[in-house]
Amino acid sequence: MLRNLRSVAAASLAVGCIPFAMSFGSARADATTHRAKVVEPVTTTTPSTAAKPTTTTAAPRPPLVRMLPFKGTFRVSATWGSATGPTHPTPAIDFVMPIGTPVYATATGSVDFTSTDPRNCNPLTHIPPGGTYEQAIQWCVDHGMVGTRIRIRHDDGTYTMYVHLSAIRSGISAKPMSRVIAGELIGWSGDSGIATGPHLHFSKTDAVGKTYDPVLLRACWDNAIHDFVNLKALVGTMVRNDGYGCLTTPKK
Ligand SMILES: [Zn+2]
Repeated sequence: MLRNLRSVAAASLAVGCIPFAMSFGSARADATTHRAKVVEPVTTTTPSTAAKPTTTTAAPRPPLVRMLPFKGTFRVSATWGSATGPTHPTPAIDFVMPIGTPVYATATGSVDFTSTDPRNCNPLTHIPPGGTYEQAIQWCVDHGMVGTRIRIRHDDGTYTMYVHLSAIRSGISAKPMSRVIAGELIGWSGDSGIATGPHLHFSKTDAVGKTYDPVLLRACWDNAIHDFVNLKALVGTMVRNDGYGCLTTPKK
């Protein structure tokens, strides 16, 4: 899947994202993401993070708008579709975040796939002498070091993927399929699998995993929905997501 990338450098940014040491403190931060005034996040709604059954129908509750799977502000290290600079070979976006950051379902649906493997396989350390970054990735794949992941099939037929996790929340499984609601804690971020540093790889795709959903580029803060229209410009910036500050479906 990396055959169209032209250099080792580009590939390293694409899959493993930005190495952890490079992840914070950019002067470019906030250039495009902090248009709104800064206020304290709305905290009147309790996150659904408490342990509870996930396979039964939950009590009706307001539709949470959680278009990104985290709360807080994190740096975008790679996106899909950018012709130059950090890019991503598959429809996905990478957010650099510390290991153990809570990860939430972005919409209601059913968990239909999980894998659990805490091992990290940093391609930069597996490039064979005279070999390529692609070969290093293949080495990781051949050794089954693909990490801890969750996929959710949403009620509209789309899927979201949460990759490189450090742990999956107890009770979240694909067999039997756990029912999760928007905003529900599903696991914690990490650096498992093919990654050069801790980050969350997140995607929302169609049933065959090939269509990038622009809804992914929405975040919630200051009780409002914010759209990101320039995917390329997003790389290297900070994206803030409050989640629980947006309790109603945005107007179309
Ligand atoms: Zn990624």
